Order: sequence, then C-alpha cells, then structure tokens
Amino acid sequence: MNASPRTYEIRTHGCQMNAHDSERLAGLLEDAGYRRVPGDATPDVLVFNTCAVRENAADRLFGNLGHLLPVKRATPGMQIAVGGCLAQMERTAITRRAPWVDVVFGTHNIGSLPALLERARIREEAQAEFGETLETFPSVLPARRESAYAAWVAISVGCNNTCTFCIVPGLRGKEKDRRPGDVLAEIRSLAADGVIEVTLLGQNVNSYGAEFGDRDAFGRLLRRCGEIDGLERVRFTSPHPRDFTDDVIEAMAHTPNVMPHLHMPLQSGSDTMLKAMRRAYRRDRYLSILDRVRAAIPDAAITTDIIVGFPGETERDFEDTLDVVRAARFAGAFTFLYSPRRGTPAATMDAQVPPEVVQERYDRLIALVGEITLAENQRLAGTVAEVLVAEGEGRKDAATHRMSGRARDNRLVHFTPQDTAPRPGDVVTVAITRAAPYYLVADGAPLAVRRTRAGDAWAARQDSDQTAERDLAGTPARSRASRPAPVALGMPTLSRPLSLSGSCAVFRALWSLSKCSSTASGVVAGLR
Ligand code: SF4
Repeated sequence: MNASPRTYEIRTHGCQMNAHDSERLAGLLEDAGYRRVPGDATPDVLVFNTCAVRENAADRLFGNLGHLLPVKRATPGMQIAVGGCLAQMERTAITRRAPWVDVVFGTHNIGSLPALLERARIREEAQAEFGETLETFPSVLPARRESAYAAWVAISVGCNNTCTFCIVPGLRGKEKDRRPGDVLAEIRSLAADGVIEVTLLGQNVNSYGAEFGDRDAFGRLLRRCGEIDGLERVRFTSPHPRDFTDDVIEAMAHTPNVMPHLHMPLQSGSDTMLKAMRRAYRRDRYLSILDRVRAAIPDAAITTDIIVGFPGETERDFEDTLDVVRAARFAGAFTFLYSPRRGTPAATMDAQVPPEVVQERYDRLIALVGEITLAENQRLAGTVAEVLVAEGEGRKDAATHRMSGRARDNRLVHFTPQDTAPRPGDVVTVAITRAAPYYLVADGAPLAVRRTRAGDAWAARQDSDQTAERDLAGTPARSRASRPAPVALGMPTLSRPLSLSGSCAVFRALWSLSKCSSTASGVVAGLR
C-alpha cells in the first residue's frame, strides 16, 4: 500500500481575486491531506483556476486540457479539476468537450473542491457544481498563502456596476462585503504570523460597506489597519472614481502604514467613451480626485488602467485620453487593446474600431506613457527609497546580481545587495542611482538593511517547504507539469504595459502571475 499523500498543483490565471482563491484552494486541499507536488513530478490532482477575461481563454483552456489527456492516461489515479470564471461561464461544456476532466466548479463553489474530487473518484464520473450566489466567503476557508511576508485580504467579492466592457458582474455576481471585524481579525492573524504588508482586495473598494449600510466603511477600515501592531504596509485595489471620497484621501494621508500609492482606473479620457462604457464619472471629476490626492499626499504615485479602441472611439476621443494622460502624470499605466468579448454589452455595439486603428492608437499611447513614467522616475534619482525585498519581482536578478522589491509608492526597485544578505520580507534602504520607464535602479551599497519578522517568516517557510519536499521524496517522479511561479503581491502596477483590452484588478494582476506576464496580447472584459 502506498502511504504517500496525494499531491496537487494549482495553475492560476487572471487576477488577484483568482490568486487569492487559489490560496484557499491550496489550503482546502492541504487540510484534506493533499500535499503540494514537489519538483518536477506530475501531480495526482491538477487544478486550473481559470480567467474568462483574456481573448480565446476557452480555446487556450481546451488546448491545455487536450495536452493533458495522454498525461492523464499514463498516470493512474490522476484527476483534473477546472474552476474560476471560465468554468462558471462554460459550465458543463467543459466536461462535454473534455470528458477526461473530473471536476468543474464555479466561482462560488471553491469550498466544495475536496468533496467533489472524492465523489468523482468514488463514482468514477465527472462532478460539476455551480452556485448562483456566494454562500461561504472564501476568506473563511483555510489558506495556503503563497507569500510569508505579504498577503491579499478580500474585503468584498462581486460588483454592482455594469461597465459595458466587463464580464465580471455576470461571473462573480453582486457585491458582497465582509464585516470589518472579520477583515481586521484576518489581518491581525496574518501580522501575528509575520506578514508585514497586506493588500485589501475588492472589485470596487470604495463601495465597501454599501451592503451593510456604512458608506464610510472603507476609510474607517484603512484607519483601523493603522492600529494593527507589526503591520507596516497597507495597499488596496481597486478604487473606483465614481465612489472615491475625500474621507478615503484623508484616511490615506493620516494613516502612516497606508502606502502613498493610488491605482485609479481611468479607462478613457473622453466623456463620450466613459458614458458608452457606463463609467459613472467624467474626466473633470477624475482629474480633480488626482489633484486632491496630490495635495494631501505629495509623494503619492498614481497609476491607472486605460482601454484603447472601445467601440465608437474616434480620433478626438483618443486625443482626449492622451490629454488626460499628459495632465495626470501617471507613474504607470496598464494599457489595454480593446477587442470584443463575448457576453459583454460592448461586444455587440456598433462602430467597432478596426484592429489596425486600435493598434496604431495603442502604440501612441504606450509611447506617451513611457515618456511620462521615465520623466517621473528620473525625478527620483538621488532620492532614498525603502524597499520591501520580494521574491519573483526581478526576472534578471540572477544575471545582474541584484535583488528587487517595491518602494513605499509601489515602484519596482532593483538594487545591488553588495555584501549584505537581505531575505524576502526584509526591508532595505537604498539610494536611487538610475531610472527607467518601469523601474528604478539602486546600484550603490544599501544604506541600511532591516531584518524583519517577515524575513524570519520567509526563512521558516523555506525550511518547512524543504522538509515537506524531502518527506515526499519517495513519490515516483513523473514527467513534469509546471511548477507554480512565485507570486508577487502588492499592487503590481508599475511595470511594462500589457496589451490586454479590458481592465481592472483582473488585468493588472496578470502582471503578478509571472506565467501570464510575458504572453499578454489582445483582449478585454475587465474590472474596475
Ligand atoms: Fe465592476 Fe470593475 Fe467590471 Fe466595472 S470594470 S463592472 S467596476 S468589476
């Protein structure tokens, strides 16, 4: 009898919300006795946590599933599960087109995964479960966190808006808010475990509290985060210009551990386009929010999302967007090429913009954004930055002998540790020597290295992961699926623009998942 625990691997696509859900899926599986697959082995259970936002997402999923068929045939007992937004959208089409899939589950059903796997194994037939409403808030489920030093904390799921390019409300449902006491309890528990940075997650954090009748709940929540011992950095994503209030600006300005970074989705600088997108704000409101934020928080870095080529966009509309970009002086922008997304109102609108026109405008936009972000970054040469050292942020770190992390304003900083040895989770103080459009470089010796509880937690995690891998070393090594990439937490916004059309937290997070980050092309249907 083989006493080895069954192993699992989760492949996550899409946004922070999906990455957050994947941590819950991993926690549920570990609670049920599964262990993360070591090294290059093929897992006993392979879970796809899918995203419906990217163009051809279904084709890609079915392509992946097709490649897995011979692997599954050669691997007795292997199970494949598909969850997330695409599963919610395609539902039973998945087991019809790929009958070797064992489990399909919806966005409201992640808590059922272990039971569905067990049932599929016993009954030897595929299991599917889709709830229409969220019954269990994912945050109450056990989690296997990807990072020991930073964490996402969901404050709400779903969205009450109806942006015409967005597929999210249909897939994630109406907004549901967690009670502040539950959110704060989770953050306190994370801080007690060594986490020093949290990112509060919601499709629209500024409408947080609407469900329980407290319109000021988000500002209040930020202030309460400021009272949590050991919590050094608080970020959030995403705000919405329609619901953003001065109270939140004040809370940001007066709560020392709330970081000076605001990711404020613009989507378009044309009032005509904003109306067509059903975005309930206009460019003047947008720019006035930025003015007030900068007045209250002079060192704030402001980043954004912009969609190019929305149906009906004229050259004049596009010029309006360029004007707002010039006025806003963004520190970074996620720029998306629009293309029609099945299931969204915009997909059937008249006056779709020809792809070559969209591309030409997009090229002009990223040139302008690059010019502005470079100029803004160059202003920081010679200044001092406090960097939270991160795992997986600097792809060339090994070759350049640098380490990487995020400054307080969320700018990506590559630094040379010289003869210091900070760990992910530690905090280094560096002098910025050079700027590029999407990052800063600090090539002198660090001015200070502060070893933190978060660095200790990271080191302890390394030790326990190595022990777990040794314990599983007797597991027969099969040919490889792929190893989960490290997940960068925080707001992954100050980086090279992607060509996705759509936006919101969903798209931005594609950044943080390195498997997605180099492949983006095409399409939208986003959030925020
Ligand atoms: Fe909601 Fe964002 Fe989608 Fe708009 S784009 S419907 S705010 S999730």
